[in-house]
Amino acid sequence: MSRLLSERLRTLEAYVPGEQPQDQRYVKLNTNESPYPPSPGVLAAAAAEAARLNLYSDPELKPLRAALAETYGVTLENICCGNGSDELLYFIFLAYGDAAHGFIFPDLTYGFYPVFCRLNGVPFEEKPLRADFTVDLTDYLDDPRPMVLANPNAPTGIALGLAEIERLAASNPARLVVIDEAYVDFGGESAVGLTRRYDNLIVVGTFSKSRSLAGGRLGFAIADAALIADLETVRYSINPYNVNRMSMAAGVAALRDAAYYEANCRTIARTREDTAARLRALGFEVLPSRANFLFARSDRCSGERLYLELKRRGVLVRHFTKPRIADYVRVTVGSVSDMEQFIRTTEDVFNEER
Ligand SMILES: *Cc1c(COP(=O)(O)O)cnc(C)c1O
Repeated sequence: MSRLLSERLRTLEAYVPGEQPQDQRYVKLNTNESPYPPSPGVLAAAAAEAARLNLYSDPELKPLRAALAETYGVTLENICCGNGSDELLYFIFLAYGDAAHGFIFPDLTYGFYPVFCRLNGVPFEEKPLRADFTVDLTDYLDDPRPMVLANPNAPTGIALGLAEIERLAASNPARLVVIDEAYVDFGGESAVGLTRRYDNLIVVGTFSKSRSLAGGRLGFAIADAALIADLETVRYSINPYNVNRMSMAAGVAALRDAAYYEANCRTIARTREDTAARLRALGFEVLPSRANFLFARSDRCSGERLYLELKRRGVLVRHFTKPRIADYVRVTVGSVSDMEQFIRTTEDVFNEER
């Protein structure tokens, strides 16, 4: 740290992303990417757009917003796009938080929320999940502070139903409710439809997981037009060209190729259930996941040790050191053969422990 850094940032602890080894040595199950490549249509669209990289991208992103509007049954003025949904979350904490207006979210959830709060000088309170890692709605219903929930939640994979999201939005029309649906396409219920009836609700989505575009950096927010106007003010004040040409073209093509991605999501959901059953057969406790990852623990091996032993054998999973979840590992659902290797390697670890 230099002695010139602002007072505000001196104590900031940056978000720590999962490891991204730049070689192919690992079965990579640590950052919830899709094991499947983008569709052929996406590859062609992105390649064609590369020839126009000498020109700035379209700041209005009309073709992409139009395609999203059609997919989700809303209109153009209900959509703001970002460089990954992380950027939209950053916009949201910047737009709706300040020293006097703190946010609330669960104690165990996406690690970026507290980082964005600290970066923007927004206070926050973490509401503990219940012992079974479910959200206690009563923690939120009577609290007037803006709230963020990942649904399905990360790293647990546990989802709330649509009726519960509606109760949160309806309980206080003056309070902002943000639902982060990064994993909704793997078996959750989307709250996008509710944004037409609740003007205090923002749904955030991403192309990173279910649409195989983690490296393309493309996310979106859907909400009432007045909320989207707020986010557009922030976006134009930071970087109107936040979504690059190739990613916009890739996003439009991905929405056109919906059938390809829906088939991949179904395969991943099936692989998830098969893998969960095999982990349970090995004695693991596995949380009920609606996402493209599993959160599991075993009495036979600590979370940290399992993470290290798997890594030594070429399988990368994610381990978190927070006390409540230090016993667990989070395992991305990869291809059928990835999961075969993960299970076999876990068995090897257990056999050598005895
Ligand atoms: C992966 C993830 C995101 C964001 O991903 P982007 O790649 O920035 O779109 C947002 N929220 C949660 C809970 C996630 O797991």
